[in-house]
Amino acid sequence: MRIPEYFLKEIIAPACNNERIVEAFKKVPRHLFIDDALIKLAYKDDALPIGYGQTISKPSTVAKMTAILDPQPNDKVLEIGTGSGFQAAILSKLVSEVYTVERIPALYRRATTIIRKLYIHNVKFKIDNGKVGWEEYAPYDKIIVTAGAELLPEELLNQLKDGGRLVIPINNTLKLYIKESNKLIKKNISECKFVKFVF
Ligand code: SAH
Repeated sequence: MRIPEYFLKEIIAPACNNERIVEAFKKVPRHLFIDDALIKLAYKDDALPIGYGQTISKPSTVAKMTAILDPQPNDKVLEIGTGSGFQAAILSKLVSEVYTVERIPALYRRATTIIRKLYIHNVKFKIDNGKVGWEEYAPYDKIIVTAGAELLPEELLNQLKDGGRLVIPINNTLKLYIKESNKLIKKNISECKFVKFVF
C-alpha cells in the first residue's frame, strides 16, 4: 500500500502547516502501525483501536501536536504514551533522539518491532508509568504526552530544559507549556479527545 496523495495534501498539510512535518509523514506509512483488518481506514482522519482499550491518534492530531512541539533537528524529545509507535516514528524523522514510554508491555513490544522493521534507530523505548518521565536521559528539549491527563505530572516539568516545550492534553484541552528562565508560560491550544492517561 502506498501513502495516498490526498492524505498528505488534505489531512496532514493543513493540520501542521509545515513542510518538514509533511515530509516526515511521507516516510512513515501509517498502515503498518494498525491491524490488518483496519488497513482500509489507515489514511482516513480517524483514531483507530490498537487493542488494550487504546487507540492510534487521529493523523491530523498527530500532525498538529507535532507542529506545536516545534521539533528541531538537534532536539532530544520525550514521548509519554508510545501506543502504536506512530507518533514516535514521525518524531524520529524530525529530531535527533526520541525517548518513548508506554505502560502496557504488549503495546511496547509491538511498537518496538514495527520501528525496528522500518530501520529507525534513534528511538529508545521503555515500559513504565510515564508520570515519572525518563530521568536517565533528562533534560529534554521537548516533551509530548499523547494520553489525556487530569493534571500535569510535575516530574515532566523537572525533566524539561530551560526554553523547552511540553505539549499535553489536560481535561480535553490541548495545552502547551514553555519553560522560560524558571517561569512557566501556559497556552490553551484547542479542544481535543484522547484515551486516558493513567496516573
Ligand atoms: N502516541 C500514540 C498514541 C497512543 S494512545 C500513537 O501514536 O499511537 C496513548 C497511549 O498512552 C496508550 O498506549 C496508553 O497505554 C498510554 N498511556 C496512558 N497512560 C500512560 C502512562 N501513565 N504512562 C505511559 N503510557 C501511558
